[in-house]
Amino acid sequence: MSALRVTVWNEFRHEQNAKHPASTIYPNGIHAVIAEGLAQQGYDVRTATLDQPEHGLTDQVLADTDVLTWWGHAAHGEVADALVEKVYKRVHEGMGLIVLHSAHFSKIFRKLMGTSCDLKWREAADKELIWIVQPGHPIAEGLPECIEIGDEEMYGEFFDIPQPDELVMVSWFSGGEVFRSGCCYTRGRGKVFYFRPGHESYPTYFNEHVRRVIANGVRWAAPSNSATPVFGNTKPRIS
Ligand code: ZN
Repeated sequence: MSALRVTVWNEFRHEQNAKHPASTIYPNGIHAVIAEGLAQQGYDVRTATLDQPEHGLTDQVLADTDVLTWWGHAAHGEVADALVEKVYKRVHEGMGLIVLHSAHFSKIFRKLMGTSCDLKWREAADKELIWIVQPGHPIAEGLPECIEIGDEEMYGEFFDIPQPDELVMVSWFSGGEVFRSGCCYTRGRGKVFYFRPGHESYPTYFNEHVRRVIANGVRWAAPSNSATPVFGNTKPRIS
């Protein structure tokens, strides 16, 4: 079997701002670090960023992508609506989508969810404990019962998402809040996984367990060989 083809998409703005901590933590961009972690798992990985032509996601790139990962924060509004439509269509055709951290507010995630995807937040170096609440799930493979992250931005409930098809992780924060941090959905033939941590001011994407979750998420979200749905007026199967 050939390696899964993964495209790691990143807004890549904070990291290019010399005054922002992200420029020190991720000098080559968050995408480079996520891609490195995925390449170590044997995936066929490429990256794409907002400021590239067509945001780096040409029709050919999308057609050649089994699973797309998405990180965005400050420039969700700059992502072309036409591209969002194309990604939406590809997900329904079976392309997996891994939505990371502040991409909860991305156009594509909100469109796929159909809700505001709003939440509480606080940037104060809270401690985060990510508890695995579905240990038999493929995304929990090889992980401890709890992933501890020293400093992270807090995201708190209520998180305005549809009820997840499967809830794999729940976060606790040192300020007392909780959050559904690992949420699985299917849309058409495609699978969508939202994974919470990854604020740009902290080195979260170097954490080996966080990398493992993303790699497991990619494997889980890989396209299946299911039949293409047929819609519309139809003759009886049995006459
Ligand atoms: Zn953040």
